[in-house]
Amino acid sequence: METVLITGSSRGIGRAAAEYFGERGWRVIVNYNNSEDAAKEVACRINKSGGEAHIFKADVGKSCECEALVKFAAGFEGRIDVLVNNAAIDEMMPFDMLSIERERRLFDINLFGAMDCTRYALPYMLHEKKGSIVNVSSIWGQVGASCEVQYSTSKAALIGFTKALAKEMAPSGIRVNCVCPGVIDTDMNKNVSEDDMAAFVSEIPMARMGTAMEVAECIYFLSRQTYVTGQILGVNGGYV
Ligand code: NAP
Repeated sequence: METVLITGSSRGIGRAAAEYFGERGWRVIVNYNNSEDAAKEVACRINKSGGEAHIFKADVGKSCECEALVKFAAGFEGRIDVLVNNAAIDEMMPFDMLSIERERRLFDINLFGAMDCTRYALPYMLHEKKGSIVNVSSIWGQVGASCEVQYSTSKAALIGFTKALAKEMAPSGIRVNCVCPGVIDTDMNKNVSEDDMAAFVSEIPMARMGTAMEVAECIYFLSRQTYVTGQILGVNGGYV
C-alpha cells in the first residue's frame, strides 16, 4: 500500500485530495492543526471507501512538528511515496497593516512548513530513489494580489522552490510539481464579501469558482506522472 502525506487535510482542498487518494486505496496521513473533528470525519470516510487513514496533529509552522509528522507517516512501511504540501493560511489586508509577527507566522506555515516537511521527507524518498512532491501554490503567487502581498509572496516562493528542487532531485528519481489553484470554493474564501466574490468570478473565463475536488484531481494527476517534474499547473478556469 502506498503512503501519501497531505498537510492541512482536515478541510478544503487538502481534505478533497485526502479523500481522492483514499478512494484509490492509498494509506493517507491526514494532518490537521485545529480541526480535530473534521480530520476524524475525513479519516472515517477514507476508511469506509477502501483506503487506510491515520490522523496526526501537527502545526506545520513549527519545524519540530513537521519532523514528527513526517516520522509518523514514514513509520508504517518506512516510505513516503507522495508528499502534498497543502497547508496554508491567508491574511487579507494592506501590506503595511499586517504585523511582523503575523507576517512571519504566515511564512512559517505557507513556505517554511512546506520546505520543512520536504526536508524531513526527502531522506525516505532518496533511500527508495523515488517519490513525488506536489506543492499547493496559488494563482496569486503567479500574478500577485492586492491586499494579499505576504500571501502572494509566500506562494510565489513555493513556485521557485518547486522549480529549483525539481532540478536538484530529478537525478535521484524524485519529482517535484506544483498546482496553482484560482478561486476555489473553500473556507479560505468565506470572509470574502458577496460583492467581491462576484467581481472575482466575473473575471474568470469559465464564470464560476472551482471546486476542491477539481484541484484534488490535478494533485493526484501530478503525483502519478512519471516524466513530469518542475511543472506549475494552473487550475483556474482560464483566469491565467
Ligand atoms: P482552507 O479551507 O482554509 O483549509 C486550510 C487547511 O490547512 C485546513 O485543513 C487547516 O487545518 C490547514 N492548516 C492551516 N494552518 C495549518 C498549520 N499551521 N498546520 C497544519 N495545518 C494547517 O484552505 P483551502 O482553500 O483548502 O487551501 C488549501 C491550499 O490551497 C492552501 O495552500 C491555499 O493557499 C491554496 N489555495 C486556495 C485557494 C482558494 O481559493 N481556496 C486558491 C489558491 C490556492 P486546521 O483547520 O486543522 O487547522
